[in-house]
Parts: sequence; C-alpha cells; structure tokens
Amino acid sequence: MRVLVLLCVPGAGMGTQAEILAPRLNLLHLATGDMFRAAAELGTPIGLEAKAYMDRGELVPDDVTVRMLLERLAASDARQGVILDGFPRTRAQALALDLALAERGSSVEEAILIDVPPEDLVRRLSGRLVCRAAGHIYNELSKPPRVPGVCDIDGSELYEREDDKVETIKARLEQQLPDLLDVCAHYGEQGKLRRVDGRRPIEEVTEELVEALGQPSVRPG
Ligand SMILES: [Zn+2]
Repeated sequence: MRVLVLLCVPGAGMGTQAEILAPRLNLLHLATGDMFRAAAELGTPIGLEAKAYMDRGELVPDDVTVRMLLERLAASDARQGVILDGFPRTRAQALALDLALAERGSSVEEAILIDVPPEDLVRRLSGRLVCRAAGHIYNELSKPPRVPGVCDIDGSELYEREDDKVETIKARLEQQLPDLLDVCAHYGEQGKLRRVDGRRPIEEVTEELVEALGQPSVRPG
C-alpha cells in the first residue's frame, strides 16, 4: 500500500490539490478533519473517543489519531493507498505514524511539500469578504463584488471576518510554520521529501506530481 503525505500550511488550498491528485494516482484522499467527523458520525469506538476530545474543545491526542488512521487504512477503499492531508502536523505525529506503519511492514513512500513563500500565502489567504445575510464569499482580488462592499446576490453588507484579517493570518502562520518545517526536516532526513513550487497554477502542480508519482517509486530497503 502506498502512503503519500501532502504538506503545506493549512488553508492554502492544499486540500483541493489532494482531492484532484488522489483519483489521478488511484489513491484515497484522506483528510484527517473529515475522517474525524465521519468516524464520529458512524459511532465507531475510536470515533466516539475522538469526538469526546473535540466536544471538550481539546486536541485529539496523536495516538488516537494514528489508531483512527490505521483503522481507516484497513478499509477496502484504501487498498491501493492513500494521500494524507492534514496529518502529520508535528514531528511527534510523524514519528508516531512511522512507528505504526512499520508495525504493519509499511512506511511513508514520500512527503510532498507544496512550497509557497509566507508572503504569497498571506496574499492568497487574505482579502476574503463575506456577506452578512447569507455568508456568500468574495475576494478583493480574485472575486470582487460588482459594487464594493455589497453582495451581488442579496445586496447585504460585505465584511472581513476576524479569521481572515492579515494580522490574524500572519499570527497563525508564525504559529504553524515551525511545526511544518520540523515535519519537512523529519522526512528530509529520511530522503523522502519532495518540494514542489506551489506558486504555479494548481493544474500545473497536479501534472508535475502525477508524472513524478504515477508509478510507485522503488526504494531499496
Ligand atoms: Zn450575499
């Protein structure tokens, strides 16, 4: 079974990349956030365990996440392999994943970093505007409303959510980047890190990755 890890700062559109890439490589796209929600809805024991943490507003512990991941990997739709999206986010999680996969005689084949410079990320993530009436989404640069500050659809006021403000985005990046770099270093040490330039259009990045990853790479040992 192939296990690929997609790495990027959360919210930078990598989920979209993973969604497009997974079927092209005949792999299952496994976003850990979705996995938690699905397991909780199904009411599996591990799903309920994770839900209890989330309901208390706590982070799901790594060992619970890894156990859930392994359970998910055992399902028939993951037979060919998976692209992990949103996990691991820390070096500790990467180590836990290595250990769990090793017990099954498997390992991460490759970690792909969709590399976008922080200043580009800030630009990409900011400028989001939301309408008060129905939450319609606009972007000052890429999808501006016809009349500034007014929703095209219902005429209600557009505003910038606290989460989408440049200062908030910068603070979040500063908090997340060290962990991301740490995870990259972990896979780099194993010779398994592939960097792709994420500043290009998403289709171009997809094509490069399909070409590079279309066949399982053969690794000695
Ligand atoms: Zn609206």
